Amino acid sequence: MPALPQAFIDTLNGLPGYDAAAFLAVHNSPERITSVRLMPQKAQDITSVFPQLEAQRVPWTEGGYYLSSRPSFTFDPQFHSGAYYVQEASSMFLEEALRQTLPASSPLKALDLCAAPGGKSTLIQAALPAGSILVSNEVIRPRAALLADNLSRWGTPDVVVTNNDPRDFSRLENFFDLMVVDAPCSGSGLFRRDPEAVQEWSYDNVMLCSQRQQRILADALPALKPGGILIYSTCSYAREEDERLLDWLMEYDNFVSLPLQLQPEWHIVATESPVHKAAGYRFYPDKVKGEGFFIACLRKEGEAASPKKGKNKFPEIAKKDVERILPWLKPGADVRMMAHDGEVLLVAPAVAEEITLLQQLYIRKAGVKAGQLTDKELIPDHQLAMSTIISQDLPARELSLEDALHYLRREDLRVDAALKGWALMRFRDMNLGWAKILPNRVNNYYPKEMRILKSGMPET
Ligand code: SAM
Repeated sequence: MPALPQAFIDTLNGLPGYDAAAFLAVHNSPERITSVRLMPQKAQDITSVFPQLEAQRVPWTEGGYYLSSRPSFTFDPQFHSGAYYVQEASSMFLEEALRQTLPASSPLKALDLCAAPGGKSTLIQAALPAGSILVSNEVIRPRAALLADNLSRWGTPDVVVTNNDPRDFSRLENFFDLMVVDAPCSGSGLFRRDPEAVQEWSYDNVMLCSQRQQRILADALPALKPGGILIYSTCSYAREEDERLLDWLMEYDNFVSLPLQLQPEWHIVATESPVHKAAGYRFYPDKVKGEGFFIACLRKEGEAASPKKGKNKFPEIAKKDVERILPWLKPGADVRMMAHDGEVLLVAPAVAEEITLLQQLYIRKAGVKAGQLTDKELIPDHQLAMSTIISQDLPARELSLEDALHYLRREDLRVDAALKGWALMRFRDMNLGWAKILPNRVNNYYPKEMRILKSGMPET
């Protein structure tokens, strides 16, 4: 990797826990860390997902693992079936922060404000108490599309993906119990993984990022209800984006800092904001097995007020149509069925209850799209195939690795005479998507925009 700029190194001196020699050594070392987090409703056993690799637990995360080497995720059909999410290990600490700050059982309304590509959203979804909802937002439109794809792979009906500017959330005053702001930042924590970012670093950019972080927070904070939890994180080491930003927050609104319990063997550095002594946590790559990261938890104080309700644009579908969808779902799947733009959406009951208010945002995806219900049939959507609520008993065909990759490239598949009509294509028992089996051919319904474009065979 390119040498770290001296101007950058100078800014690190005096930071809590900074050890110059160890920090520089780790940036000069060729070691790269790969970590994944299993999707608990699709995969529980790391050794069956990566039988060739050694896996070691990420200490602060259920289902988070370091892998002994980096497989080619693009050519692993299990990646496309949503069995796991590839996520940097330090940022998985968000799970521990949620565990220590959220009430254990009451359902919550959560917002992940800066969510693309979606690593933290998948983690938040899995960590929230049953009956909760997650609004996963990204302001940049193409990144919101990527976020929606990643959350479709994750497959749960309790997530709504939106594409809004933070200021739009002021329409949902006092709505959220939890707001996670994983802010856009100057990115020094990822220098080891992304050497190109080194060239882009400047102190001016740190200051610009700090101002943007303040603007984002100021715009979105009205949507956090009094008593609600704010979790702020960056992948920057800069005080201006971390501890000083906490001081700004403490002065901007009525917050109390929520310190976390750390295990000494985690080697996470506890720090405090200079003025208000708000607790923050620093991750250095020479101390933890992960990249640079900063996280802090705060609670908004004050009197709760109830948010307004609006008119529902997503009517529930007729009973006879519900009967036609039910055979596609797991018995007892707890969802409401709503009509939207000629298609049927399957959403968690809590999403259905809040959709009136949420529709003030630009919704990219709500719950799981079941598909289009015509007079003749349900034309099933890819989201249904990827979902955690789909029936296990639908016609399906298990594919070899080679055929799974053909399928994921949207190439022709061979005909299986035993099946007819809509069938799930599977790899190692996990759904990859739909195909329609006709008497003399198979139509591949893998979404064009998600297909594998790279040529070549997997590294095994
Ligand atoms: N939380 C994500 C995850 O875990 O996958 C990573 C988020 S990344 C650190 C920050 C995100 O903020 C980016 O997706 C970026 O597009 C978005 N962003 C950039 N400018 C923004 C702004 N002005 N307001 C809100 N979000 C912004």
